[in-house]
Amino acid sequence: MTTLHLRTLKLRSGEQFVDEREVQLEPLELGGQRYLPVPDTVSAELSITRASTGTVFELRFRNRLHGPCYRCLADAVLDLPISAREYQATNPDSEELRTPYLDEDRLDLSAWARDAIALALPLQILCRPDCAGLCPVCGKDLNAQPHTHEEERADSRWAPLAELREKL
Ligand SMILES: [Zn+2]
Ligand SMILES: [Zn+2]
Repeated sequence: MTTLHLRTLKLRSGEQFVDEREVQLEPLELGGQRYLPVPDTVSAELSITRASTGTVFELRFRNRLHGPCYRCLADAVLDLPISAREYQATNPDSEELRTPYLDEDRLDLSAWARDAIALALPLQILCRPDCAGLCPVCGKDLNAQPHTHEEERADSRWAPLAELREKL
């Protein structure tokens, strides 16, 4: 976990701190699946701007995420440019004016980076945009073996019932 103690920066109102920081990234759990940031440490650009009314925090980095494709479970790779921004008022009187990543003077860069990655994710993580997924009938990979199933077999089970219905 990477944290930063703001007190050590000795930032005064009107001053800005800009630095490259190595930030440790945690794996993400999404829909019961595990997604791994590769590499698990990124060099992030951090800037902290202090004004009399509050402080603006900005974090920028690029990351690559590895994990199962939403449709076929094969390895999917996502390249994510991350740009996040947080604000903390000097005298916050509501939750909106407070960043959840700041505890006293300790800024949790790892938690912030993890949430920023989660927010940047597409709705579905796919190995490729046109992934055909797994067959709902037999479970085979439709990318490797495109096929369909005939419905006759299912229909034949109802044949005796249809005959019976005709007799009634
Ligand atoms: Zn896929
Ligand atoms: Zn099938």
